[in-house]
Amino acid sequence: MKEAILPTLLKELCLPTMSRLWEEESKKAIEEGWPPMRYLTTLCEYELSYRDNRKLKRRMAEAKLPKGKTLETFDFSVVPTLNKSQINAFSSGEIWIENGRNLLIFGPSGAGKTHIGAAIGDKLVESGYRVLFTRTTELVQKLQAAKRELALPAALEKLSKYDCLILDDFGYVRKDQEETNVLFELICERYENKSLLITCNQGFAEWDGIFMDKAMAVAAADRLVHHATILEINVESYRKRAALSQMAKNKEL
Ligand code: ADP
Ligand code: MG
Repeated sequence: MKEAILPTLLKELCLPTMSRLWEEESKKAIEEGWPPMRYLTTLCEYELSYRDNRKLKRRMAEAKLPKGKTLETFDFSVVPTLNKSQINAFSSGEIWIENGRNLLIFGPSGAGKTHIGAAIGDKLVESGYRVLFTRTTELVQKLQAAKRELALPAALEKLSKYDCLILDDFGYVRKDQEETNVLFELICERYENKSLLITCNQGFAEWDGIFMDKAMAVAAADRLVHHATILEINVESYRKRAALSQMAKNKEL
């Protein structure tokens, strides 16, 4: 019987879901009198949906986003300067990611910059974009190591596969010629091409402390801001507020 080799054929064609479901679905098809096209379409749909799921899981894992920092867990009521519908629009990625624009999030420590940045990243992955979340200092160290091994162009090229690179705590980079050089090279490489989402607790005026000289600080800021949206979260630390409200509750008891 020709159809006896169907499982082997499906395996050869790398169709694991069809392999798993063809028999069960064929029983259903016979019972319900499906035309052959419906049977084949159903199996193809299952295969595609399995692939999409796997791709999403892979991309979620590669994004290295901090756990639990999603839009669902972000309380917009404590950050009046953030517009929820604007953040939702950023989360879909369509306008800014497609055009390689940047998003810069400024605010004091504990204001929720990392949370909102990661939450946007999470939704971008769900929308099918490739994202990488990293502490800026960590990435800079990796790029520095690559530079020492004369492999900086390859390392930058590797990063270019990400539609959005989230550089958390940009302001924590130490003022060191080599460090800031690689950061500057990264900014130039992505300029007008691929998006950066940056969180930073220092305004541009203090960027002289990040980049070695004023000229480089100005050039970096210029490139980042040229096609960018800037969000300011000037609220008191969420951690501090949570601790104070806990203390108040304890006093009431
Ligand atoms: P930042 O990066 O600005 O220093 P974080 O994003 O790390 O601040 O926020 C500090 C902590 O407070 C985190 O645990 C974060 O999840 C929480 N947090 C901050 N803002 C909010 C918010 N608006 N709603 C819910 N949790 C928040
Ligand atoms: Mg942070």
